[in-house]
Amino acid sequence: TTSFPSKYKKPECLKSPLETESRLLATGGPANPYNRSFDSLQLPILGMLEDPSIKILFDIQDGIRYVLQTKNEYTLVYHGTGTTGMTGVLDNMIEPGEKVLVGIIGYWATVASNIAKRLGANVIQMEKPHGSRFSLSEIEAALKQHRPNILYLINGESTTGVYQPLEGIGELCYKYDCISIIDVVATVGQQPIKMDENKIDVVYLSSQKGCGGIVGLAPVSFSPRAMRKVRRRQTVPKFYQTDITEQADAWYITMPVEQRNEAFLHSISMSLLYSLREGLANVVEEGIENVWQRHADTHRYIQFRARKLGLEPYVKNPEDRLIGTTIFWAPKGKDAVKIEHYMLEKFNIEISVGLFVDMGKVIRVGLFGSNANRATATVVMDALEFALNSTDTNSE
Ligand code: PMP
Repeated sequence: TTSFPSKYKKPECLKSPLETESRLLATGGPANPYNRSFDSLQLPILGMLEDPSIKILFDIQDGIRYVLQTKNEYTLVYHGTGTTGMTGVLDNMIEPGEKVLVGIIGYWATVASNIAKRLGANVIQMEKPHGSRFSLSEIEAALKQHRPNILYLINGESTTGVYQPLEGIGELCYKYDCISIIDVVATVGQQPIKMDENKIDVVYLSSQKGCGGIVGLAPVSFSPRAMRKVRRRQTVPKFYQTDITEQADAWYITMPVEQRNEAFLHSISMSLLYSLREGLANVVEEGIENVWQRHADTHRYIQFRARKLGLEPYVKNPEDRLIGTTIFWAPKGKDAVKIEHYMLEKFNIEISVGLFVDMGKVIRVGLFGSNANRATATVVMDALEFALNSTDTNSE
């Protein structure tokens, strides 16, 4: 009996508290976060303009620089997912009418093409058959022919399991006077990026893969060369919230901490920042070289188990295989979707099937971040062996 009568009934579904089961997430992403990252979600929520909160922003910037191996001052985090990072960096780097050369080795670069077109770019697509990547000479030939303002590539294509090495790419972009934008969502914290050494101009990533955090944040990093292009813009970027110039104030790169009230751009999620900070702290504690090694060892073990099971790798050339997400053809007579269901129902393990690429025909096993270790890989591959031996996973 209040003085605010409502005709609408309480939704039945919200009358009981939420319960979820624990899962081993061995999908293309997200992975189970590092424990430190997950536990930090319980920490008391600070006000976003307090000194301790601002220190967390600086901790995260240093952590991102470390995992990317860069000294870039313009390194900060957007709220949103990897796709927000993709959209934001493209928007900052593209002016309408500029030429963007997009290297397609799977689904995600087609998303980038779509976004670049929406931003008014003249998009030129070069494409490789699924399961393969570009050689440096192919990239150089395309740069020479098209003379783009921007080259966009995916370092790790999680839908095809392909790894596109970064060595030599930056050098080529210097030679042909264009800006490199690289998607490192599926490689950062798993394989070396070496942003400065490889002379890469712009990258974006997400909080939920190799950084060991949870979904919701998209770190980005811009080189001084990329920032020179931003400063020479004749038009402003289309989107306010991911404008690097606005964000640089909010992250105290261009605004002193003393002017914190003027630096305000939008509300920030302290809990998401805690979890990213702690994921990065986990990587720092272990040492990035050891993290790369752990992922490489896990990858080798999965390949070994898959060979024993007679599984055919989707990516033929072992050197072109992404470390953290491995793709196999479902064996003859087996249904990938049924394999996925079987593993979830019987073992509480979630793997992936094809995402826009060879759906229903391939199985994708992602073991990265906290899940990149021999014990977890053994559990997943044992379960997969069971699933393959069961008649429940037969195609008909
Ligand atoms: N790029 C790659 C290579 C990815 O694997 C993903 C997500 N799996 C994305 C971009 C998009 O990230 P998000 O789903 O966080 O938006």
